[in-house]
Amino acid sequence: MKILVDVRKCVGQARCAEISPELFKLDDNGFNVTAVIQVPPGLEEQAREGANACPERVITIVEDETMKDSTQA
Ligand code: SF4
Repeated sequence: MKILVDVRKCVGQARCAEISPELFKLDDNGFNVTAVIQVPPGLEEQAREGANACPERVITIVEDETMKDSTQA
């Protein structure tokens, strides 16, 4: 799993780092400046919660396995 952060749209609310400081590193001004974060085993749930906590919705979770399309009937 990896995390993609659209760092240009981050507004520095630090919600992601509050949820998971191990995964989301902020700069001195509170902005998330790491565009691609590899998620170590065991931190997947924290990654999802951190992404969900971002009010700007600039964090995307990319699963490792082939993406399963649940929209297919
Ligand atoms: S929660 Fe979103 S807006 Fe806030 S620091 Fe993290 S990525 Fe940026």
